[in-house]
Amino acid sequence: MAKIKLEYIWLDGNEPSQVLRGKTKVVDSSKFSGKLEECDQWSFDGSSTQQAEGGSSDCILDPVYICNDPGRKNAYIVMCQVLAPDGLPHPSNGRAMIDDDDGDFWFGFEQEYVLQDPETRLPLGFPAGGYPAPQGPYYCSVGAKNAFGREIVEEHLDICLDAGLNVEGINGEVMAGQWEFQIFAKGAASAGDQIWVARYLLERVAEEYGVAVDWHCKPVKGDWNGSGMHANFSNTQLRTANSKAVFEEVCNKFAPQHVIEACISVYGADNEQRLTGLHETQSIDKFSYGVSDRGASIRIPIYTVQNGWSGYLEDRRPNSEADPYKVAATIIKVVKGGFEAGDAVQAGTYGANMDDLTIVEGIGPKIASILKEAGVDTLVELSKKEPAQIKEVLTAAGNRFARHNPGTWPKQAEMAAAGKWDELKKWQDELDGGK
Ligand code: ADP
Ligand code: MN
Ligand code: MN
Ligand code: MN
Repeated sequence: MAKIKLEYIWLDGNEPSQVLRGKTKVVDSSKFSGKLEECDQWSFDGSSTQQAEGGSSDCILDPVYICNDPGRKNAYIVMCQVLAPDGLPHPSNGRAMIDDDDGDFWFGFEQEYVLQDPETRLPLGFPAGGYPAPQGPYYCSVGAKNAFGREIVEEHLDICLDAGLNVEGINGEVMAGQWEFQIFAKGAASAGDQIWVARYLLERVAEEYGVAVDWHCKPVKGDWNGSGMHANFSNTQLRTANSKAVFEEVCNKFAPQHVIEACISVYGADNEQRLTGLHETQSIDKFSYGVSDRGASIRIPIYTVQNGWSGYLEDRRPNSEADPYKVAATIIKVVKGGFEAGDAVQAGTYGANMDDLTIVEGIGPKIASILKEAGVDTLVELSKKEPAQIKEVLTAAGNRFARHNPGTWPKQAEMAAAGKWDELKKWQDELDGGK
């Protein structure tokens, strides 16, 4: 009787980044036709994966996604979530955090990674003891001078497509030896499942070539791009918004300090090495968004604008090593308003938008620059001023500005700095422009 191989794969409890594990279960073909429901729960030794103590070591593998395993004869890959012995989600189980039962959230992850020579521990294309030519020619390159490891990348793409994963594209990246694949799914859990299976398949293909995969977000220090996992996301609201204001409202939900921290805590280890403000990133402690802005935390793709302000957003902060389940779960929670804005907010610790005084009704670009010259260069600074002090600054700038009434400005700035966007918006609608 023919036998079928099921590779059960799961995430271990390694910190700060969880790592894939897998083991094979052999079943009779008479009892198996490739359906998820036919895959029994299984157990493993959690004490060897940092998920349990030796004394009660069994953890449960609960199958959540199945696909063909084209790299093996008569085989499937079975992605599992880890449950504790009592059947509840194990604390390491990010998939269980996802609150998206109806699959309304669509995710497209851009997984970047670096192929590494396991002996020199250097990216492919880096000569031992030195550096290749500076960045510039490698992105989307062709030819042995600039493209390193293509045979692995191609084999990986084929094997993913044969497995049935929804890979949407691949490309060579900015650093030598760095590549990207994109996976899109309707439903956050499915997107996460497929990213993890694709990571597993990449490890296995590269293994055949004696090449390692470096998932770290900053494999080479210095003037070399790090590796991200941009999270493109949408829900029905964004896909059908037809409104710039809706996109701004959603972006602003990500702005308060405690939300920045919640996001960064699951956006991948060592991200401060990558989110520096250079190499197409925003600094880790700042938040900004902008149309086509690759230096922003969240980019509004030009597609979204051209599509009449309907479409998706790209959170550029998640890194190559992040768990897509936790990233998606957090983004969904932010968009659904799960983090209360305004609470427990530390004044003065906001991101780039907090430098934008024009958020305040009554302040245009000219007045903003006058205030900045006078040392009032953030919303927090502005919130600490008395209207009379601001009036002095305006008067000193000339008659044109002296007639503005800054009575509400500090209070508006305070609301913006506290992330109370809805409240601010309502109040601004009632104001006559602060004049
Ligand atoms: P770039 O490199 O310019 O940031 P990519 O083409 O690599 O862009 O990735 C864009 C990703 O956005 C793709 O994976 C795609 O699936 C995803 N995407 C497109 N439309 C949507 C949408 N409505 N919701 C979620 N993701 C989307
Ligand atoms: Mn991309
Ligand atoms: Mn990229
Ligand atoms: Mn991108």
